[in-house]
Amino acid sequence: MLRVDRRDLSRGPVRTDGELEPDHPALKDLGLDLVGPVRVKGQLQATGDGEYLWRGSLQGMFRSACRRCLTEVITELDVDVPAAVFCSDPDAADDPESYPLAERAGAVDVADVVREELALASTQANLALCREDCAGLCPRCGADLNAGPCRCHAPAEPV
Ligand SMILES: [Zn+2]
Ligand SMILES: [Zn+2]
Repeated sequence: MLRVDRRDLSRGPVRTDGELEPDHPALKDLGLDLVGPVRVKGQLQATGDGEYLWRGSLQGMFRSACRRCLTEVITELDVDVPAAVFCSDPDAADDPESYPLAERAGAVDVADVVREELALASTQANLALCREDCAGLCPRCGADLNAGPCRCHAPAEPV
């Protein structure tokens, strides 16, 4: 379970292991084409003052297009989250490791952290390369130069 009741957290740390399917509401509109569920592992605990600390990791795979030749690229995502803090303090909103928690919220939802981490990964998706030395497409004829030189680049035939 990634959504933990605050009453359970008042009794001690809670394991948060689970999977989020690509159609989970927390993963909507991220611009990421996820391949299969995102696996999440971690532990959530109360730190006093109504704050909660989550430490964990998430793994998933997403599909994108090579930025040079547009070939499909599958990128594996493996993120460690050393500290994500859920708190109701509005002053903490600027802290990138801080997640807002409504004062009266009955539960803490680790899916918020997963969403944030995947949003960062979507930037990475736009920069994907099928391989480090991808030759890309010819700007003139659109041919995939990984398959060899196109006509524009072919050596001139001897006259
Ligand atoms: Zn490529
Ligand atoms: Zn060409």
